[in-house]
Amino acid sequence: MKKIILTGDRPTGPLHVGHYVGSLKQRVELQNSGEYDDIYIMIADAQALTDNADEPEKVRQNIIEVALDYLSVGLDPAKSSLFIQSQVAELCELSFYYMNLVTVSRLQRNPTVKSEIQMRDFQTSIPVGFFTYPISQASDITAFKATAVPVGEDQLPMLEQTREIVRKFNDIYGETLVEPEILLPENQACLRLPGTDGKAKMSKSLGNCIYLSDTETEVQKKVMNMFTDPNHLRVEDPGKVEGNPVFTYLDAFSREEHFAEFCPDYSCLQEMKDHYSRGGLGDVKVKRFLNNVLQAELAPIRERRKSYEKDIPAVYEILRQGTQKAQKAAAETLREVKASMRINYFEDEELICAYARKYGSTSDTN
Ligand code: ATP
Ligand code: MG
Repeated sequence: MKKIILTGDRPTGPLHVGHYVGSLKQRVELQNSGEYDDIYIMIADAQALTDNADEPEKVRQNIIEVALDYLSVGLDPAKSSLFIQSQVAELCELSFYYMNLVTVSRLQRNPTVKSEIQMRDFQTSIPVGFFTYPISQASDITAFKATAVPVGEDQLPMLEQTREIVRKFNDIYGETLVEPEILLPENQACLRLPGTDGKAKMSKSLGNCIYLSDTETEVQKKVMNMFTDPNHLRVEDPGKVEGNPVFTYLDAFSREEHFAEFCPDYSCLQEMKDHYSRGGLGDVKVKRFLNNVLQAELAPIRERRKSYEKDIPAVYEILRQGTQKAQKAAAETLREVKASMRINYFEDEELICAYARKYGSTSDTN
């Protein structure tokens, strides 16, 4: 069986360092491993519209931003097809059929949908499109026969729902769809990077992000203003490491060589954490270190972005070509799906002949 990747992001804002450690970094590694036959990276504009119907311009403006973020982290259009979801109409058609395989109560139980509904304060005014987006995600994944989906932890329930749809479809209509596997980052801190405000998740919609496209000064300002342990008032006070986002970011980003380079007082993160917990280590010093670590990671990304920004028509061309390839793959899957469901009436010789026989007409369909 072919090894295929599908993943993507909603163009609701530029991508942030949570996306980077949660998914983008791993995508680039998988891409460069050479182990995958096809890699599809989707800008999920149709999904973004499910909770931004009144802000189409926001979604529109972020298509190129997200594409630039993709290219700047090292996604290579020669190896990965970057495409725009809304331009692959087959995905909607697949969703329409998958909707019949999912119950309302099953969607209501999806924990990510639940918490996102709460976060967006929809209360009783949940857009139907938003409520059903896990089904549309199943279409995105299965349309490309994806075997692996590298995403952050919040996507686990979506993958589970997709796998259920695949099993149900194959059960009823015969083996057609491929069951995907989720690929989560190995580093615990990267599963769900908290916001700079200490909230559970860095998220575009919460405005607590460090963006990949932020300038050096912006990153520094955000790091120096980060939430830490609110009870760590004086340097000599013992500080809390757990739930302190500055340390979670260090867990996600720092490597041993960073200490030698930027903070030789410690040889590894554990030593720094121990000192903080004991007392005697101030937030400013830890933040300065984090800033250096982040700048080192972001500098090459910024550089690559600058070179792509100089040729936006070329970026459009990359999206156009990626979308064409995605359309072809999705059309092929849709053809197979319709054949399995036996709703490919005009190709169904058996049905035509059977009715021709039944009513005594000629069976010649030409
Ligand atoms: P929105 O608020 O519009 O939903 P978002 O910031 O949650 O935006 P998405 O486009 O929904 O971003 O998510 C894209 C991918 O990035 C998903 O795979 C998701 O799991 C991952 N991701 C998003 N935020 C984080 C985070 N804070 N930590 C780790 N992974 C994340
Ligand atoms: Mg999200």
